[in-house]
Amino acid sequence: MRSVSLLGSTGSIGTQAVDVLLGEPDRFRVVALAAQSSTEVLLSQAAVLRPEIVVIGDESLYGVVRDGVPPGTEVLVGIPGLVAAAACADVVLNAVVGFAGLPVTMAALEAGKRLALANKESLIAGAPVVQKARRTPGAEIVPVDSEHCAVHQCLAAVDDLTAVARLLLTASGGPFRGRSPAELQMVTVADALAHPTWSMGPKITIDSSTLMNKGLEVIEAHELFGIPYDRIDIVVHPQSIVHSMVELRDGSTLAQLSNPDMRLPIGYALGWPTRSAIPFGALDWTSPTTLTFEPPDREVFRCIDLAYDAGISGGSAPAWLSAANEIAVEAFLAGRMTWSGIADVVAETLEGWRDEPVEEVESVLAADEEARVRARAVVSRRCRTIQAPRR
Ligand code: NDP
Ligand code: MG
Repeated sequence: MRSVSLLGSTGSIGTQAVDVLLGEPDRFRVVALAAQSSTEVLLSQAAVLRPEIVVIGDESLYGVVRDGVPPGTEVLVGIPGLVAAAACADVVLNAVVGFAGLPVTMAALEAGKRLALANKESLIAGAPVVQKARRTPGAEIVPVDSEHCAVHQCLAAVDDLTAVARLLLTASGGPFRGRSPAELQMVTVADALAHPTWSMGPKITIDSSTLMNKGLEVIEAHELFGIPYDRIDIVVHPQSIVHSMVELRDGSTLAQLSNPDMRLPIGYALGWPTRSAIPFGALDWTSPTTLTFEPPDREVFRCIDLAYDAGISGGSAPAWLSAANEIAVEAFLAGRMTWSGIADVVAETLEGWRDEPVEEVESVLAADEEARVRARAVVSRRCRTIQAPRR
């Protein structure tokens, strides 16, 4: 039986993980849960899963959680709570959103645990220090992100990475596939949140509409699998059935197919190499199925090239990219800025990037903070000149 810390348990990935864990109680035992402020969901999960530790990010909610958990449960707060929870299980599912997930990634790897990684931002922003922590004996990352989980599965058929010609990350194309820049001028938050195939938290849903999510995933793939950027491509596949592909030097292309259901990659990352017995993503091959593929429109979806450029620059550039994007997405979701402003803010913020060594977590935190300050300034300047569309 594997012990599991489920951190970010109240979100989209977190609640789907609860489904997976409850489906196979003989394989997994939950020892820790964590959320930022959703106390009602967190307490109902604690009542069912009976973890030893419950972490609440917002310290002001400590009393509410302490009074609501089953007797004997330890309640911890903030980053020290996340760090303790990330070091106490066989497998740590990092389902926190954004840069806030970095302490979980670092603590799990430094404690020599398996990190089931949904939180791509921590790997992208903290790459140099995360790679160091990944060398801790016992530490390993198994990706939850569906594309990387697909690549992980395909690579199991390859005994040597020199056989890999390129990785092909699939993208649904998001709600704005096929639109022109003029048509995208006045899209609303509701338009951008209407993802055609996946139901996810708000930040990643907006990232999917700009295709920044795919750009971030290119960096994530480079960091996870060590494949150079000129051998990682993006393919738009609107049906979201093929979750990614690996092209081999002998001309074969390997792919992983299933319905778009995150419970499959969550179960894979928790249980690998043992497969789940529950067919969460099973396809019905008796009904006609059409799979289509096309290149992304890199002129409309400028975030793709911004991400490639930051990835290729390396060092703290991906941290700047990710931080600027978080600020821009936050401003868009708050109705302060247009959708097309997201790429503008990221591009303008990155103009101020200077290469600095990133050897310690402190330098990652400093790079993140500097990028956020600049991005906020860019947003404020734009807000004075641009009227965002109504929701
Ligand atoms: P959500 O916004 O739905 O959930 C985020 C979770 O993180 C919530 O439980 C939230 O708690 C918690 N959280 C946020 N900040 C903190 C903090 N400081 N301390 C403790 N907990 C915190 O996000 P998603 O589930 O959509 O995404 C999570 C991660 O997984 C992201 O990095 C995303 O890119 C990645 N991912 C998501 C996919 C999806 O299908 N949703 C697919 C692939 C990757 P609270 O509810 O209290 O705010
Ligand atoms: Mg993905």
